[in-house]
Amino acid sequence: MSKNNPYFKDYADFLSERFDGKVQKITINAGFTCPNRDGTLGRGGCAYCNNSSFSPMTGADVRSVSRQIEDGKRFFAKKYPEMRYLAYFQSYTNTYGETERLMSLYSEAISDSDVVGLIIGTRPDCMPDSLLSRLAGLNKSKTVIIEYGAESSHDSTLAAVNRCHDWATTVDAVMRTHQAGLAVGLHFILGLPGETHDMMMTTVDRASRLPIDCIKFHQLQIVRGTRLASDYLSGRQPLTLFDVDEYIDLCVEIVSRIRKDIAIERFVSQSPDNLLIAPRWGLKNYEFTHKLFNALAHK
Ligand code: SF4
Repeated sequence: MSKNNPYFKDYADFLSERFDGKVQKITINAGFTCPNRDGTLGRGGCAYCNNSSFSPMTGADVRSVSRQIEDGKRFFAKKYPEMRYLAYFQSYTNTYGETERLMSLYSEAISDSDVVGLIIGTRPDCMPDSLLSRLAGLNKSKTVIIEYGAESSHDSTLAAVNRCHDWATTVDAVMRTHQAGLAVGLHFILGLPGETHDMMMTTVDRASRLPIDCIKFHQLQIVRGTRLASDYLSGRQPLTLFDVDEYIDLCVEIVSRIRKDIAIERFVSQSPDNLLIAPRWGLKNYEFTHKLFNALAHK
């Protein structure tokens, strides 16, 4: 554990196990869409996903992948000339496409000598073996990390928020990715409709039993333009949102339960102010971390 965080393995620890020196993510928007949007699996998308910001292809960053890397490097290199980078394919479903096109985009990103690895965010039902074996090949020259949006381990919850995949699919994707030799992470949302405290802890325990390297959590946020927002604003679906102290208690419990070698990348996310309806905690990320560490120190 790092000297800045004596309480749990964090993402800085995860990175320092794999890379020398400072490493920074550069987020890439390669213009992917999502099978839960384009009609392949569904059209409405997940209940919490922002429709208004989702415009497949036309919403893509018009800059090429290499240009996005160049721009990202320019931003950081002024302050840290020795910085190395991870190309982070973050937006939407970054393995949803024809394999050769995907590989060409990934290869474009890692062809930059300052890029030391790739992080690919995707859905667990969008990782065919054929792509996995190509990524395993890429992983021999530059580190490849796969992040799956799991969101919950409960099929009833996944159905309620229209994820259009189940927990077994997540387990299968994690197992295959790990067996292919790639680092793998999961993402979960805490406080999804209908989830009790025990259900969330069951999810943490189930995730802990999987061969994952890192994990991300965030609090449920009600974001404009989503199905949850219209349910929330109309009162059709009563939603219980965490206040910050309740959420910190939950995070403390997660830290005490999760397998110690899993790096916890984060507990909170902050939607843009103009899109966020609730909860509005009014805390910057570092202020949340300070409160969390304080709670962990006094537990
Ligand atoms: S949250 Fe992800 S999987 Fe769900 S609709 Fe949005 S882009 Fe697709």
